[in-house]
Amino acid sequence: MEYQQILEEIHEEVKPFIERGKVADYIPKLAAVPKNKFGMAVQTLDGKLFTIGDAHEHFSIQSISKAYTLTLALQFAGEEALWKRVGREPSGNPFNSLVQLEYENGIPRNPFINAGALVLVDVILSHSKDAGQTILNFVRERSDNPDINFDMEVAASEKSTGFRNAALANFLKSYGNLHNNVEDVLDTYFLQCSLHMNCIDLARSFLVLANHGLSPWSGKQIVTKSQAKRINSLMLTCGTYDAVGDFAYRVGLPGKSGIGGGIAAFIPGRLCVTVWSPGLNSNGNSLAGTLALELFTTKTGMSIF
Ligand code: GLU
Repeated sequence: MEYQQILEEIHEEVKPFIERGKVADYIPKLAAVPKNKFGMAVQTLDGKLFTIGDAHEHFSIQSISKAYTLTLALQFAGEEALWKRVGREPSGNPFNSLVQLEYENGIPRNPFINAGALVLVDVILSHSKDAGQTILNFVRERSDNPDINFDMEVAASEKSTGFRNAALANFLKSYGNLHNNVEDVLDTYFLQCSLHMNCIDLARSFLVLANHGLSPWSGKQIVTKSQAKRINSLMLTCGTYDAVGDFAYRVGLPGKSGIGGGIAAFIPGRLCVTVWSPGLNSNGNSLAGTLALELFTTKTGMSIF
């Protein structure tokens, strides 16, 4: 497959859309990211890397990090205990919605909405002395890149305006669904969202989920084959906000997006494809990024279906 040529075609075709979305501005530091960025990377399981545009530039991966913390929380708590505290259904609501949490008695609908992700952090805090470092080590191992770091300025910036997440965390606490201190949960959550990575790091880190849980870098089984199946299913059904049906229809791949404009998606048994373009559509997914992934599966004729 001529991946490089396909990436070049995609880049040309998405150009008119790159400036159309809206950059997330409720985190002051992210409001300043230029909208004209576009990068894409394809990392194949047989070791080939293809890139285009700003694929080497680092950005804030935000909610994409929830796919990492889900993996850690599953490993720490085990499936049975975790699924008592978080659901597994698409929410059909914005990622930071408060209403659903009230009428569902403090059990977040899925691990990828903010309330669910706060519970994941709580699990990690309960099982680890330094939850931030545990998350960082895990991401570094998965990408095989020891230089990945948090962006402390983005974390502090989000903390300064993170009133909704604070409300969600307090709400969860009132239902007994946070076991640790609210402040500690929020600080760790803001830290994980600030992970500063590029399209290549992302593609390398998600390749493990395209490889039945086996790291192509270290040869280590990061998650079991069965857990990889489950995490991938959750990414397909809950990974792209309340546009998840539209994303599945258009792209046909499991994926996880973040309001930094990144999306990581993969084709089990073959490759991982990632994209970054900060302009978002009204659901919070990268506008040009979603289009680029749709073009990728259309042009290659490859999807999970
Ligand atoms: N840190 C962001 C928030 O909690 C993450 C949102 C996202 O990427 O979906 O609002």
